[in-house]
Amino acid sequence: MSDCIFCKIVKGELPSTKYYEDDRVIAFADIDPKAPVHILLAPKQHIPTMHDVKDFTIVADIHKAAQIVAEEQGIANGYRLINNCGADAGQIVFHLHYHLMGGEKLTSF
Ligand code: 5GP
Ligand code: ZN
Repeated sequence: MSDCIFCKIVKGELPSTKYYEDDRVIAFADIDPKAPVHILLAPKQHIPTMHDVKDFTIVADIHKAAQIVAEEQGIANGYRLINNCGADAGQIVFHLHYHLMGGEKLTSF
């Protein structure tokens, strides 16, 4: 989608700090980190929300990439992988993404 910021990051039209990339998934630093490690994982394909996913293999691909990035970041002992699905859940960027967060003791909720 031409006006989607994460599509622009995928295409290299907007700068990002990339941590992982394959043919279907990209991982890049959140611009406003809320934890010592705060990396976003997104499909390269534009899918607005988790609720729009039809082919669930992309979810597996994202989770696999999350494992790889968590290992590389040294947080495999504990991290969160969070998806905000829809405006009422706090989703701001309507291109599917998961927040990989860790690097500190995370409080329970
Ligand atoms: P959401 O609330 O949609 O789940 O999370 C969107 C996330 O994208 C936020 O944590 C926000 O800091 C991040 N973000 C927004 N704009 C940009 C951007 O241009 N580049 C990067 N790297 N992250 C962004
Ligand atoms: Zn997009």
